[in-house]
Amino acid sequence: MEKKEFERPYIKKIRAGVPSKFGMPVQAEPVTHIDGVPVAELITDFGSPLFVISEKSIRRTYREALEAFRSRYPEVQFAWSYKTNYLDAVCRTYHSEGSWAEVVSGFEYDKALSNGIKGSQIIFNGPEKSRDDIVKATENNSLIHIDHFDELYMVTEVAETLGKKPRVAIRINMDTGIYPMWDRFGFNYENGEAWDAINRIMMTGKLELTGLHTHIGTYMLAVNAYAVAASKLADLAVRIERKYETSIKYIDMGGGFASRNTLKGAYLPGRDTVPSFDDYANAITGALLNSEINPGRLPLLILETGRALVDDAGYLLGTVLANKRLSDGRRSTIIDAGVNILFTSFWYEHEFYPAKHTSDHLEETTIYGPLCMNIDVLRESVAFPLLRRGDNFVVKRVGAYNMTQWMQFITLRPAVVMIDEAGKPHIIRERETVDTVTHNEIVPTHLKSE
Ligand SMILES: *Cc1c(COP(=O)(O)O)cnc(C)c1O
Repeated sequence: MEKKEFERPYIKKIRAGVPSKFGMPVQAEPVTHIDGVPVAELITDFGSPLFVISEKSIRRTYREALEAFRSRYPEVQFAWSYKTNYLDAVCRTYHSEGSWAEVVSGFEYDKALSNGIKGSQIIFNGPEKSRDDIVKATENNSLIHIDHFDELYMVTEVAETLGKKPRVAIRINMDTGIYPMWDRFGFNYENGEAWDAINRIMMTGKLELTGLHTHIGTYMLAVNAYAVAASKLADLAVRIERKYETSIKYIDMGGGFASRNTLKGAYLPGRDTVPSFDDYANAITGALLNSEINPGRLPLLILETGRALVDDAGYLLGTVLANKRLSDGRRSTIIDAGVNILFTSFWYEHEFYPAKHTSDHLEETTIYGPLCMNIDVLRESVAFPLLRRGDNFVVKRVGAYNMTQWMQFITLRPAVVMIDEAGKPHIIRERETVDTVTHNEIVPTHLKSE
């Protein structure tokens, strides 16, 4: 008979399946496969740590969101928020589903073009467009969303110089009952600035005002804020129609729907509490349909959802480097993925799972990354089974903002693999090497060795 491995006994508090003052008890069912591919195999083939993206999940979530809006409103268009995840394979997956591109820099704009998206299907947002960017966007017939008056003057000047009418919208910020208000972007609704910008655009005759845009915040749990925002945009659309006898083509409600991650300090897990796409769709389409907008000329509804579409599709796989006891006796586990590659661990209580069954014991554990920096904490405190050095773990819901905000700091960025709908893994971004970092460096001659 084979001798069983010894497991150290210890005393554990019984946890029932109801919330305590620390929230819900943590389940540690292992995640052994992703879309049918064994986690251990992915790590053997592509290394550790490793980001994995499920194409199936991207498509499923996208279709669910589209259906939620299409079933309630005649014309709906999604535009993929590049900054949320601009790996080409990810963007192209959204584009193949019919999504346009939503970009906030010249670099993202170029990336969208190289991903095969037509200029007329690129929405150019953000406060930092250069004159060259505006020229390019005008020539390509893109949708330029103006952020401030200085930009409005620049776009007008470009229009005069090129003798071409840029298609523009203005970004509008407003009080939706959510504070702090995101009033640093766009023109304010309540103080009349947005109406002023609209009139200036209409009066110059040099720009084509095609739409109205807002993006009220991110990880918005209050669906009613969207209803308020949509009503205010509808109000402006009606005023434009009344005063100028012309109607705008679209209302763009931006992004900001919450993903199913759990915010730090939240009492209940995000997967049980965040609103569904149906909830958001109801609020937005209800406000538009109930507005004074002429029903024969309902504008196209554009959505720039990022986080809620892609978060669930991303996984981070990694390996335990060591376990140790802190001076107060608390257990800590050190893993090979730091906060430099899992940026969202500053906001979320990420869900960590063992990649195989190890132990039935859960113990309060602090999970540290590998960086030689005190801030490198992935989870302050999580009930976790004992993983040994070399054991693998899986972090769920990391598809949004990590593969764009990650940085080379002490360690390099890992590879990214996408599992296609047939269950085949494809490498979509290579693991970085020292050359990735030194590629752009130049050593002055006097410091070079002979
Ligand atoms: C970041 C951003 C989005 C996407 O936001 P999510 O919260 O990820 O949905 C959409 N529109 C604009 C203008 C943005 O800046």
